Amino acid sequence: MASVGGSVDLEQVTKRYGAETVVAGVSLAIPEGQFFTLLGPSGSGKTTTLSMLAGFVVPDEGRVMLGGRDMTRVPPRGRGLGMVFQNYAIFPHLNVAENVAFPLTVKGAPKAGIAARVAEALEMVKLTGFGTRYARQLSGGQQQRVALARAIVGHPKVVLMDEPLGALDKNLRYHMQVEIKEIQQRLGMTVIYVTHDQEEALTMSDRIAIMNHGRIAQMGPPREVYENPDSSFVASFLGEANLLKVRRDGEAVRGPGGAPFVARGALTTPEGLVFVRPEKVNVAAGTAAVAPNHLPGQIQHASFLGNIVRYAVTAAEGARLLCDVANGAGTQIHRPGDAVTLSWRAEDSRLLAG
Ligand code: ADP
Ligand code: MG
Repeated sequence: MASVGGSVDLEQVTKRYGAETVVAGVSLAIPEGQFFTLLGPSGSGKTTTLSMLAGFVVPDEGRVMLGGRDMTRVPPRGRGLGMVFQNYAIFPHLNVAENVAFPLTVKGAPKAGIAARVAEALEMVKLTGFGTRYARQLSGGQQQRVALARAIVGHPKVVLMDEPLGALDKNLRYHMQVEIKEIQQRLGMTVIYVTHDQEEALTMSDRIAIMNHGRIAQMGPPREVYENPDSSFVASFLGEANLLKVRRDGEAVRGPGGAPFVARGALTTPEGLVFVRPEKVNVAAGTAAVAPNHLPGQIQHASFLGNIVRYAVTAAEGARLLCDVANGAGTQIHRPGDAVTLSWRAEDSRLLAG
């Protein structure tokens, strides 16, 4: 196996199964050391994209470049990648140390070096002392740590992970997210991570590509894609989003009840949507008019979630908004039926195509 740099590039990669195009001209340029996530609903083409990076699937069109070298037709074993999959079970007939050593033993690495590498990898995943155990003697979380140790034992520059924490409960997931991130930073690896969990993508990634129907809908750092989605799909896939119908009226854009809205972006069609996240909406008692974006409404439901209060608010023309208000010191909690005025900043909202 040649030693290659950790950059990963896909150039106009397409994969079809029969009449269905499951990955449609995807291009990605991922620099060495980046934590890059493919996020999208089930069936959007994430695993197929990762499989083409791994070499399990050969694209019908386009190129796969690793460390600047064309690897499109190189088999998986020649790509020098580490891999962790949700159902990539560890071998039951091998103990933990033998499992972790596997990528090195198949390459015929010298025995003395292997033991040191295995010890180091087990230490990184916090499984020192577990070397002689078998899969049946490990919890699900521990088995996934073994899979992680096996993926990094050969110090690959690039590690692919497909929903690696999908089978774990929420608490364990969170711990493993932090640990994977720490290991990635410690080793300076490039990680291509697949998940359908928005929160996981937002916390772990340097950059996220949101996939939909085999295409990249949007790509960028977590905060950018969360706060500045350029489609209603991305807006609602990445958490809660208010998407209100708006129409053009000369130079103005008007929402429910004719309320004038000022937002980023432009409306290129007569009708469209204005996007604003629930936590960016202010909820004030009464009908005070605060410029520029304000909308009279009525509290329909108030959910007390401890640190926040989530309001469902109705406005003119049957519009419904979610508003998350931090439960800070002295916060007044509105009740169902209360008349309120919702407001938000122009820079926290964006015009989108309908
Ligand atoms: P994701 O990982 O985002 O859930 P996949 O990449 O696994 O999506 O699948 C994308 C689409 O391709 C799905 O519609 C799936 O049914 C289809 N698909 C995946 N693998 C095959 C295959 N080997 N043969 C036929 N269709 C496939
Ligand atoms: Mg998948």
